[in-house]
Amino acid sequence: MNVPGRFAKIVGRENCISDPAELRVYECDGLTGTRVRPALVVLPASTAEVSRCVKLAQELAMPIVPRGSGTGLSGGSLPIEGALVIGMSRMRKILNVDLENRRMRLQPGVINLDVSKHLEPAGYYYAPDPSSQSVCSIGGNVAENSGGAHCLKYGFTVNHVVALTMVLAGGEIVEIGSAAPDATGYDLTSAVVGSEGLLGIVTEVVVRFLRKPQSTRTVFATFPSTDEAGEAVSRIIAAGIVPAAIEMMDRLAIEAIVAATGVDWPLDAGAALLMDVDGISAEVEHCARAAIAILRECGAIEIRDPRNESERLLMWKGRKGAFAAMGRISPNYYVQDGVIPRSDIAAVLREIAELSRSSGFRIANVFHAGDGNLHPLVLYDEHVAGESERAEHVATEILRICMRHGGSITGEHGVGADKAAYMGELFADDDLETMNFVRCAFDPSRTFNPTKVFPTPRLCGDRPGAYVPHATESAGAVGRG
Ligand SMILES: Cc1cc2nc3c(=O)[nH]c(=O)nc-3n(C[C@H](O)[C@H](O)[C@H](O)COP(=O)(O)OP(=O)(O)OC[C@H]3O[C@@H](n4cnc5c(N)ncnc54)[C@H](O)[C@@H]3O)c2cc1C
Repeated sequence: MNVPGRFAKIVGRENCISDPAELRVYECDGLTGTRVRPALVVLPASTAEVSRCVKLAQELAMPIVPRGSGTGLSGGSLPIEGALVIGMSRMRKILNVDLENRRMRLQPGVINLDVSKHLEPAGYYYAPDPSSQSVCSIGGNVAENSGGAHCLKYGFTVNHVVALTMVLAGGEIVEIGSAAPDATGYDLTSAVVGSEGLLGIVTEVVVRFLRKPQSTRTVFATFPSTDEAGEAVSRIIAAGIVPAAIEMMDRLAIEAIVAATGVDWPLDAGAALLMDVDGISAEVEHCARAAIAILRECGAIEIRDPRNESERLLMWKGRKGAFAAMGRISPNYYVQDGVIPRSDIAAVLREIAELSRSSGFRIANVFHAGDGNLHPLVLYDEHVAGESERAEHVATEILRICMRHGGSITGEHGVGADKAAYMGELFADDDLETMNFVRCAFDPSRTFNPTKVFPTPRLCGDRPGAYVPHATESAGAVGRG
């Protein structure tokens, strides 16, 4: 039997994709500039089917790329030459909801927003809310440790996942963590969350969820420039106020959002902040008043409360649709994702503006300001010869600015294929080696996403540079990789 036939026996013929035209659907993720056609795509329906597919791929020496909804922005689910893509889109069941203990067990293909929709009638919600939440999957969120506007107060995905079921490289099915609080032993759940699909395939996730806040107050404020807006963010948080969300948009981002969504935000503002304060009503009023006073002291031009719930939702739709809105002002854009200390926001944005002037590329900024998690969008036109490469180079320079300010090369979109080359600029060889040992404890054969995250590894524990046999190789435990 041929290779597709053998996988079709496991998942069913209609869930095994080998037609070259159909495979093109899977040739990239949200990092659309890079494309590779996989050898085969399978869409299993259960943990047992995932396990059998992994075993067969191992037998056939096929690398495996796990895939959720393919919205990742760092090439995490970008296929690898000859790879088997295991897609989670059929594993979309909510398996169990325990309201008393606020735990939910679900399959990884469940869409993020559907979790809160499911909980809404009972008065609960799931806090991590990436702007892509209407399409991205919980499995992808786990792999990327995804954040979102409301992660400032409530924490990232890692703070909301308590247990996992996972298929390892040999097809073994393992349970990690516990639905009960304080699982004993090493916190392996946190090692898996954010591991970008390198350790195994997550096939079930247990998340904790929260009661919906009694009250939420949204405030929109405009400023002459990002300097004053950045100062306001730092001072609000330094004053001990933790807004549920505090997001910043610069002039170019406002222009795109207004064009795409019809919000009536002023086009002459240099920057805007969109803030949610939530909690019990008395606390919300107190914190919102204190935050508004700081916005004024920092030079806010205009401060608005949405007139009603639909205007509030429209404001958030504007913010969450900001990346897509760039299509109104540019044929293409490259989304960068870096982190800086919150207190450096104004200085870093000035350096990015200078880079924009010197490179000639327009750069829009829309980001999770409270977390210091920048998303500069480098606007370009792929039809102009060489522009894609130059835009990417500008985006890399932005990462270097972040690193110079004591920040990092990714806040929430991951390293994936896109940023593996820069890991060596952020981490020393020893750091990378330690991370590689953790990876090899789960997947010694580097079956899952083998070319991602680490800069060109050859063997677990390998160092970049001249070839030196690894201790395990010298001891005859493994062959040269
Ligand atoms: C418009 C837009 C806005 C975005 N906004 C945000 C944001 O606010 N915050 C944020 O954090 N991200 C954001 N993202 C990025 C992206 O949506 C997230 O990284 C998301 O978690 C990816 O989920 P996915 O299901 O699309 O995963 P994919 O893109 O399919 O995969 C992402 C990674 O997870 C791995 N993976 C997927 N499923 C599994 C599994 N079951 N087991 C093991 N590994 C798996 C893949 O191999 C890959 O490495 C945005 C993206 C877009 C396009």
